[in-house]
Amino acid sequence: MSTPNLKMQLVTLVQLQAIDSQIYALNEEKKVKPQEIEDLKAAFEAEKEQLNRLEKVSLDLQKEKKDRELELASKEENIKKLQTQLYQLKTNKEYNTMMQEIQNTKADASVVEDKILELMEKIDKAKNDIDEEKKKLQQEEQVFNAQKKEVEDRIKEIDDRLAQLESGRKQVTPDIDKKILAQYERILHNRDGLAIVGVKNNTCMGCNMFVPAQVINLIQMYERIITCDVCNRILIIPDE
Ligand SMILES: [Zn+2]
Repeated sequence: MSTPNLKMQLVTLVQLQAIDSQIYALNEEKKVKPQEIEDLKAAFEAEKEQLNRLEKVSLDLQKEKKDRELELASKEENIKKLQTQLYQLKTNKEYNTMMQEIQNTKADASVVEDKILELMEKIDKAKNDIDEEKKKLQQEEQVFNAQKKEVEDRIKEIDDRLAQLESGRKQVTPDIDKKILAQYERILHNRDGLAIVGVKNNTCMGCNMFVPAQVINLIQMYERIITCDVCNRILIIPDE
């Protein structure tokens, strides 16, 4: 059974396709937006992680410094104790041995002192690194928030535009035969948002495959919907 005024139906389908192509493109764009926000967030979180690492380094250094200070205090305590004992000794030999022990302990203490000074320098440097990282993080946070807002604004823009297109769609669809519309929508869904295409130079503009002359004749008879044998899209002959 032929559809009355099929040519007009096809013209309306082409109008609908123009709307649906925009809807498809916008939905495709919208689909990747949540991941964009996730990626931005991940980059920012990595920066925060860097600050945590630096703070951990600083804490470790401070703990090591404290340990060394305790070690130094204990050595100094020991030196004092040995020095008091020194005067209770009876022989020269005992005295010399004790003097040697005091010298050795002093030398050890001096090494620990150097280590503490070295740690203090490292702690200062760590503090600078942390301050710089904090500043950097503050800037990164501003950039992150701005970029996130940009993406969110774009999503809102897309949603607004989609609402407009949907209402434009509703104005066009009542003019299309229900069966033809159902076929069109099925193809639209299965073929990446493109359901109706032109034939140019014996080629389907949907899949670029050859369209035989007898198929072109069938299209031009406007008796029924003709689809591409390869991609199954509805074929039309565009006006010259
Ligand atoms: Zn095709």
